[in-house]
Amino acid sequence: MKYYQAKHSIVYQLLKTVFAIYFVIVVLLTALYFVIEYQTTKNNIRDELELIAKSFKPDLKSALQVPDNQRVQAIGQNILNLSSVVSVHVVDASGNSLYVEGKDVASSDTALFFHEFIIDKPLSNERVHLAKVKIYSDSDVVWSRVKSWAFIAFLVGVSLLMYALLVWALKKLIHKPMQKLIDDLETIGLENIHKNGVDLHTESDNEFKAVEAACNQMLRKLELDKQDLLKVEYNYQNILEKEVSERTQELELSNKQLNTLAATDPLTQIRNRRSFFDIAGKYYSIAIRTKEALAVMMIDLDHFKSVNDKYGHASGDKALKEFTRIVKKQLRESDLFARYGGEEFVVVLANTGIEGAEKLADKIRHAIETNYLVTEKGEIQITVSIGVAELDKQDASLEDILSRADKGLYLAKENGRNRIEKMMASKS
Ligand code: GH3
Ligand code: MG
Ligand code: MG
Repeated sequence: MKYYQAKHSIVYQLLKTVFAIYFVIVVLLTALYFVIEYQTTKNNIRDELELIAKSFKPDLKSALQVPDNQRVQAIGQNILNLSSVVSVHVVDASGNSLYVEGKDVASSDTALFFHEFIIDKPLSNERVHLAKVKIYSDSDVVWSRVKSWAFIAFLVGVSLLMYALLVWALKKLIHKPMQKLIDDLETIGLENIHKNGVDLHTESDNEFKAVEAACNQMLRKLELDKQDLLKVEYNYQNILEKEVSERTQELELSNKQLNTLAATDPLTQIRNRRSFFDIAGKYYSIAIRTKEALAVMMIDLDHFKSVNDKYGHASGDKALKEFTRIVKKQLRESDLFARYGGEEFVVVLANTGIEGAEKLADKIRHAIETNYLVTEKGEIQITVSIGVAELDKQDASLEDILSRADKGLYLAKENGRNRIEKMMASKS
């Protein structure tokens, strides 16, 4: 982009203004000087005409008195030969021309001026008019003497030359380095602050040399500042990245903890009902896809209300924890064990058919029955009833199996508790 043009330069504008004023003053003064010079020269010529008249008058008078016409002609010619004279008129008293030579006064295109005198002679008490003489000069004569035009032409010429010289100097000394400065500054960016610097190609220690030095110093400082900033930025980035990574880890951990907390039953530390349904759906889907067996156990503690009543709620809690511990021991890693609600639990057994589930259920039932929990108020012996069901072809969802297992559990309660009942899908 062109921001700077020589013709818009302040120095150039200043130069133009100063020279315009200078020219006007020179022209006005010259014109005034010319007028004065012209008038002075004209007056000098008038004086000369008067002097000519005085010097030729006696000769002319004696020639007219004779009268000697040839002499009058010769004197007239002598006067006309003088450089300041352009025309000579000698006319007698009757108006007859005795000598009329030189420029045609009537139709001259120059500004004429003249000196006039009368030649007469005394006769008794009167003076007899012999002739009237007019000696003419004109503006051409005046101009030929005014020499100041040469001086004025010289002055104007010198002024124009000086102006041209100043414009040339302005371009060389100001415009060129200024343009170079702008070009150099335009190429400077954050990525190359002090790559080439500013070089104005100035040899003398002038203003531009100072500007060049100041610019380069500023650019060097900026480069150093940039390096410092980059270091700070780099360190800051590292610290930030470390902090972000630490925070992320912390967040991930607490998120994990929160998820575990939200999915875990606080008393027994196994999955709660909500978490059970989140996971159990996947067991069901996998079993459907892989066409593998899947079994469900619904376990309910028998007469648990009376356990609470007899041993207290805290002992009831302990019994629930103990129950959980025992069941866990009987299960595989891949089995899904959860507290379904209150003193009711559910187990999903992956890759297990109804027979396997029944066997495991009985092992659990037996383990619980033979385990006594010692409390301050005596030993607690609990039993469990278990309903077992397996995945059937006609099942539409996990709920169908859960519902059959629940029915099995109900049946086990009905049939006297501390027992297992399997519930097959009804044949249709
Ligand atoms: P059934 O053999 O028919 O299941 O009889 P039950 O007494 O076990 O059944 P009921 O549904 O009448 O009572 C369940 C009891 O389980 C009542 C409730 O106080 C107790 N219970 C449920 N959750 C907890 C718990 O977290 N801690 C304790 N201590 N008791 C609980
Ligand atoms: Mg119960
Ligand atoms: Mg119950």
